[in-house]
Amino acid sequence: MVDGGRTPTPPSPPAAVPAAGDLATYDPDPAFLADLAASVPGALYRIVSSAYGQWRFTYLSPGIQALYGITVEEVLVDPMALSACMWEADRERYQQASLEAFRTGAALHQEYRITARDGQMRWIEVKAVPRRAESGEVSWTGIMLDASQRKRAEAALQASEATYRTLFETVPQGGVYHDASGAIVAANPAAQRILGLTLDQLQGRTSTDARWRAVREDGSHFPGDEHPAMVALRTGSEVRDVVMGVHVPDRPVDRSQVWILVNAVPLFDEGRLHQVYATFEDITERELLAREVKRQATTDFLTGAPNRRSFMTRLSLEFERVRRNPALQCGLLGLDLDHFKRVNDTWGHAGGDAVLCHLVNLVQGLIRNTDLLGRTGGEEFSLLLPDTPPEAVLAMAERLRQEVARSPVVFEGRSIDISLSSGASRMAATDADPDAVLARADQALYAAKEEGRNTVRACWPG
Ligand code: GH3
Ligand code: MG
Ligand code: MG
Repeated sequence: MVDGGRTPTPPSPPAAVPAAGDLATYDPDPAFLADLAASVPGALYRIVSSAYGQWRFTYLSPGIQALYGITVEEVLVDPMALSACMWEADRERYQQASLEAFRTGAALHQEYRITARDGQMRWIEVKAVPRRAESGEVSWTGIMLDASQRKRAEAALQASEATYRTLFETVPQGGVYHDASGAIVAANPAAQRILGLTLDQLQGRTSTDARWRAVREDGSHFPGDEHPAMVALRTGSEVRDVVMGVHVPDRPVDRSQVWILVNAVPLFDEGRLHQVYATFEDITERELLAREVKRQATTDFLTGAPNRRSFMTRLSLEFERVRRNPALQCGLLGLDLDHFKRVNDTWGHAGGDAVLCHLVNLVQGLIRNTDLLGRTGGEEFSLLLPDTPPEAVLAMAERLRQEVARSPVVFEGRSIDISLSSGASRMAATDADPDAVLARADQALYAAKEEGRNTVRACWPG
């Protein structure tokens, strides 16, 4: 007994508690509708229209004031007060939808704009169910909601989608979407132009499609699995600035390859990687220009042979190879035309130039792809012979000497006799640097000149 002896009265149960199956018809206390109306956003209402087309509100919840700025009482006095707020532009569509719902008995679901009493524009979303009574009366029971915020968000989304679509359609960069399997699902006009393929041809193509004939900057094969889109798919990370050469069909040979600089971004949907967006720009011109600049920087203008700098670069690479693996045999020949000054004196500088070009052609016709002839001085050349034992180095020197001696240069209809001296050596893993082997070849060459020229001498590492 906590309350001074009075026995608390338990709340009396409702007169008739319905069974679960009767809930639909259960009519609770009168406050129910008011409480329900107060607990939902917007306004609940019921309109009844007679068989003669007259209509009236039989119920309208106070929430109407927040939507329209009009009270329930005002609507009771003037039932047209709400309808008057609707934008003319939306009225026809709304009425058509009401008629259709009325005819079919289906629920009405419409959105329309109003100018509320406070001058505010709002979007109203209406959902209502028609019900026909035997008397011929039709009731519409429903809810009106403020859809303004959602409409604004939708409009903003649409605007930003339109912006992105316009961007996608008009940027000079190519843009393609790959699905999770790597197949292209969308491509913008720039992508189609750069790759020389229609949207139809692009759609469904994967990176591993052999028709790309993709190559890396050094000309080597670029496997499909390693294309930026595939790497982004596999790793879930962005891939940036990858240079690729790809084949463009139906173009003249000199324009059938484009160079592209590619980025690929993985796109996630609820944490799951579902697409990759790859963008690329056409860098063909830049790439070809860079190649030309590089070619000019590494080749001798007159003969087209690699110049001293590029020869030295390759010599250093081979030197590192031999250092790592002393069993490798790498030969070197120093080549020098005999009495070349006389050629110039007799035939002029142009005659001398013709002799230099002739020599380069001749030597290049006799060496392997892996050998390298460099113009390392005015009328001096060096020939690198990787994976060549000393006797084969000497044999090559002798062969060159003979070929040069027996193939005179034809210049202005007359022939210029020339001869060649060479000094042979090979790299040693113990050499301090690549210059050491060049110095030995020079020493051998000097000896060959001393011996009377048109001859081969060797100087092997000690
Ligand atoms: P040796 O038998 O001892 O090698 O005598 P050489 O006359 O061949 O050698 P030397 O080194 O005395 O002279 C080389 C000449 O090559 C001098 C130079 O004018 C000439 N020369 C260098 N570069 C060029 C070139 O690009 N074109 C022409 N025509 N001559 C060149
Ligand atoms: Mg000479
Ligand atoms: Mg010389």
